[in-house]
Order: sequence, then C-alpha cells, then structure tokens
Amino acid sequence: MLKSLLTTASFATLTLPLWAYEAHYGDILQRAYISSSSISQETLDSFKISEAAEPAAIKDLCARLSTTFKKYKWDEDPCGKLPWRATLRTVKNNPLLFITFGTGSDSTLILSAVHPDELTPVPMGFRLARHLTEHPELVASDQQVIIAPLVNPDGLFLNEPTRTNARGVDANRNFFTLDWYEKSLSWWKTVKSKKLSHFPGHFPNSEVETVFQVRMIDEFQPDKILSIHAPLGFIDYDGPGDQKPLKMSEAERQAKYLAAAISKKSNNYRIVDYSFYPGSLGNFAGNERHIPTITLELATTDAKKVDSYWGQFLPGLLQAISYPFKKTIEKTNNTQRFYSDFSDKPKPKTDKS
Ligand SMILES: [Zn+2]
Repeated sequence: MLKSLLTTASFATLTLPLWAYEAHYGDILQRAYISSSSISQETLDSFKISEAAEPAAIKDLCARLSTTFKKYKWDEDPCGKLPWRATLRTVKNNPLLFITFGTGSDSTLILSAVHPDELTPVPMGFRLARHLTEHPELVASDQQVIIAPLVNPDGLFLNEPTRTNARGVDANRNFFTLDWYEKSLSWWKTVKSKKLSHFPGHFPNSEVETVFQVRMIDEFQPDKILSIHAPLGFIDYDGPGDQKPLKMSEAERQAKYLAAAISKKSNNYRIVDYSFYPGSLGNFAGNERHIPTITLELATTDAKKVDSYWGQFLPGLLQAISYPFKKTIEKTNNTQRFYSDFSDKPKPKTDKS
C-alpha cells in the first residue's frame, strides 16, 4: 500500500504544468523553496538586529570584510574605527551597515555595492566614510550625509561575488514601484531573456536589502541620492523627470544641475539620461518620489583600478554632498512607507478560539 502511494506521489510530481519544465524555471523553482523566508511586515522582526547584538555583529562583519579586501589587494582597513550602525541583517546574517555624518537638514544618501560583483564600487563608500571622519569640516553644519557602503554583503562574501543577493534576487529591481506588477517580470523575461542575475524577485520588496534602502530613504528623507555602480562609465541621471527634458519642474532642473556639477568635478565625466527600470532605485526614489537620484557608473569592474577611481571621483562625491539642493516639496504619487516602518505596532492577537 505504502509503496503504491509513493509511486502515486512521485507520479503526481511528474504532472506539473508544462511551463515548469522550461529549463530556466528549474533553478527558480528551487530558489522558491529555499528555507529563508521573504521579508514582510510579519517576518521583519527576524531580520532586525537588537541593540545588544549590534556591536558584535558589526565587529564580526568588519573582520571578514578585511579578509575580503585583502583578497582583492585593497590595502586598507575598510571599517576603520568608525561608529557604524546596523539595525537589519541579511538572510546570511550579515549586518547592513550605515553611518551618518552631521545633523543638518540638507541630507545626502550615498549607497554602494548594491551589485557587489561589480567590485570597484565596494571600497568607495568605506573610503568616503573614513575620509569624512578624517575631515569633519567637509560636512557643513546644515548638512547630513548617510553612507550605506555595502548594501549586498551576501553577494560579496562568495568566491565569485554575485549581482544578486543570497536568494538570487537583484535588489535594484525589487523596489515596489507602481509598475512592478505590470512590468517587472515581463521586462525580465523579454528584455533580459530571464537572465538569473537580473531576477526581480517573486514579489516587490521581498528582499531585506531592498527594504534596507527604503528604510534609509524613509528615515533620513534625503534631498539627493547617489548610488555607485560599474562598469558603464557614466553618470546616469535617474530623475525626477527622467526622459522628459521639455517639461522640467524646478526640482528637475536642480537635479540636472546637480548631475552636471558632479560631472564637472570628476574630469567632465559623461552624463547620460537612461530610462529607469521597473523596481529600480531610480524609478522608486527619483521618478516616483522626486528625490534627485544619480547613479555613478565607474568605468570598469577591475579591482586594481580602485585607487585611480577614488582619485577621480572623490571631488565629485564631495560635490554631491555640498551641492546646495533646495528641498522642494512636491506631490508625488508613491509616498507610502512599504515595510520599512519600524515603530512597534501592536500585533493582532492570535485567535485561539
Ligand atoms: Zn550595478
């Protein structure tokens, strides 16, 4: 009897719908069943780092990071003795680091290593944080700088670093933009030919690395955002008003001036105005929330070029911080806080009746 049941069960697994047999889906189906859960309002607690656990978690990450830096011959102590913070951790238990400088109202958020396989951006956020520590005068009294230097640590700590996180999702395609459900998976299937490195996730905001970035935006309300990538070799102006140069608002005009000012300080680095993608930071922050968002694409992923890029782009990074961007309050169409609200709401009581 048992044998016949088992035979029936294994036979049943052979009657999956036809799409499940497509080669690409095998890997994705496998991922769908990995034991780590997606992040949601209900599971957020399990991704939090308690205040008591925070210092040890950061110390451990920084020690492992030093080893990784040596592997790429970056001769430096990435974390230094800086007062890093981390309130969230990844699926692989790596704290998501950030640090703030100054307490002014003109704030700049700088993100790097969202795609750690790109390598060259990895040391840039850490170097900037150490540089601002050594030169506190660079952050004026009316300014604040928030740096999250390693948005995707799980992807970095692999023999071969990946663009995606530990669950195989591209955190820069996983933001809950208004077009996510309509366009994200179809964009991935058609434009990206289901390339696994660009998988946007099964749901928007399903990844802790995405939620972490949303939380940085929600909490610090930055006036401008700069995210460092490679290897496309340009500054990409991500919005607001992306691709609509004829109908520029004051905020858009200022944002374009900001891109030009960063370029000027970086040996007139090329500026482009690419369209944004479903689920990308540029779409979420620049297009939908009207926060000037700029992607700095370093020219290569060659780990040996880091020193030269640091020399070339430090003035541009400092320009991004000091550029006087006037806060413009605009009505935007996507200002809801998605799963980033940390206030401890009363949980619904379990119904035991
Ligand atoms: Zn990238």
